[in-house]
Amino acid sequence: MWQRGAVTGRAPLDVELALLGGGGAASLLLAALDRHGVRDLRIAVVDPVRRRGQDRTWAFWGRPDSDLDPLLSASWQQVEVATPARRRVMDLAPLRYAMLRSGPVYDRAAEAERRLGATRIVAPAESVVDDGTCVLVRTGGGPTVRAGWVLDSRPRPPARPGRTTWLQHFRGWWLEADRPVFDPARAVLMDFRTPQPTRGVSFGYVLPVSDRYALVEYTEFSPALLTDSGYDAALAGYRDLLGLDPAGLRVREVENGVIPMTDAPFPARPSPRVVRLGTAGGATRPSTGFTFSAMYRQADQAARALAADRPPVPAPAYPRRHRWMDAVALRALDRGGVGGPDFFDRLFDRNPAERVLRFLDGVTTPAEEIAVMNSTRLLPMIAATAGDAADRIRDRLRPTRPAPAIPAAVVGVPPSGGTGDAEPDVAGSEPGAPPR
Ligand SMILES: Cc1cc2nc3c(=O)[nH]c(=O)nc-3n(C[C@H](O)[C@H](O)[C@H](O)COP(=O)(O)OP(=O)(O)OC[C@H]3O[C@@H](n4cnc5c(N)ncnc54)[C@H](O)[C@@H]3O)c2cc1C
Repeated sequence: MWQRGAVTGRAPLDVELALLGGGGAASLLLAALDRHGVRDLRIAVVDPVRRRGQDRTWAFWGRPDSDLDPLLSASWQQVEVATPARRRVMDLAPLRYAMLRSGPVYDRAAEAERRLGATRIVAPAESVVDDGTCVLVRTGGGPTVRAGWVLDSRPRPPARPGRTTWLQHFRGWWLEADRPVFDPARAVLMDFRTPQPTRGVSFGYVLPVSDRYALVEYTEFSPALLTDSGYDAALAGYRDLLGLDPAGLRVREVENGVIPMTDAPFPARPSPRVVRLGTAGGATRPSTGFTFSAMYRQADQAARALAADRPPVPAPAYPRRHRWMDAVALRALDRGGVGGPDFFDRLFDRNPAERVLRFLDGVTTPAEEIAVMNSTRLLPMIAATAGDAADRIRDRLRPTRPAPAIPAAVVGVPPSGGTGDAEPDVAGSEPGAPPR
């Protein structure tokens, strides 16, 4: 199915810009094109799924911002980081931590798409051939598209396996309580009091939108997914750790997800006229899985470029030295040289929160980065740096192997009994899957 722009016979649909994938990155891009006043650009959006509703919740930090703020569900000036040893409350000024649900983002993108007069092709893009002057995109069941530029955010594995391949995988419950049990003035950013996996890091977090309603999530950074019952048990354990009585709670929605955490490369410019955005283009920060801010930044840059009649090529999502530091940190965490709670605790203990958060966004100065690096334990980091260097040499010498695909999230049966009396909505969130 496609709309607008009659396509007859075998003639391709000619556009200046084709977006392959219409999820997070493409939605931000459509909104940015509209915001920057781009008009008269022929655009096609190719995705087998039309994204709408709440299929994910984005949390991110930044300065208060007039573009995104009207869409936020909540924002917090204060966040808490907890370890078994202490609970630290941090003031983020001049930044704030914010929560954005996917529904308003998709709605804004749909409105932008309408104003831009884009053609929507509800079909998968199947092959992409770039001859250097234009790109031919064949779709499964829809028209062929001939585009001047392609911005491609379809989920894909990295170009080769990483030296460390972890996943950020999680399950969250949107909990509604009978009485006030949450503190809406502050979010829990990371709570490492959860039982730690043998290999990896786990933590819980709480994003309250009111004193009775919050997203409570259990997250692991580790090589492999849990089972459905494993996520439920871990999340129920975290709920109990927070002192929340299940009898007074209802699970209103369930959110599941898997995000790559790896030093494997996600090439952002696979061919002259194809630019990758979002997770596929390297916007996911390997050491944290946070993606939103880089995705937003890149959408803005690409849209500004198109508005000025320039190629829509954003700056790399993160500077090269940040990707190297992440590779070393991931290695130190994975090979057991550094404990996750200790690593993050020291980062927040020895730096202003604002510096750590800007560091994680890849926007700190080299001097600030040295300060951040100095807050980690020296010996394991030196060992990880040496191991990383040796593996880089080995990688140059051996033939490239295909990387495994990013696995789909485990979407299970919604919890019943003590955690709620109503059937919750389950947000599917595996890469590329339709929302449920
Ligand atoms: C549940 C969840 C919560 C997250 N929360 C956060 C967060 O709090 N903060 C943060 O920074 N990051 C978060 N992330 C990570 C990241 O921000 C999101 O995954 C984000 O949606 C990535 O955007 P994207 O466009 O790269 O991928 P997606 O949003 O997944 O979009 C990819 C699109 O490609 C489409 N597609 C698939 N195959 C084809 C094909 N053959 N042809 C055309 N289209 C195709 C899919 O249907 C989909 O619409 C979260 C991720 C998940 C899964």
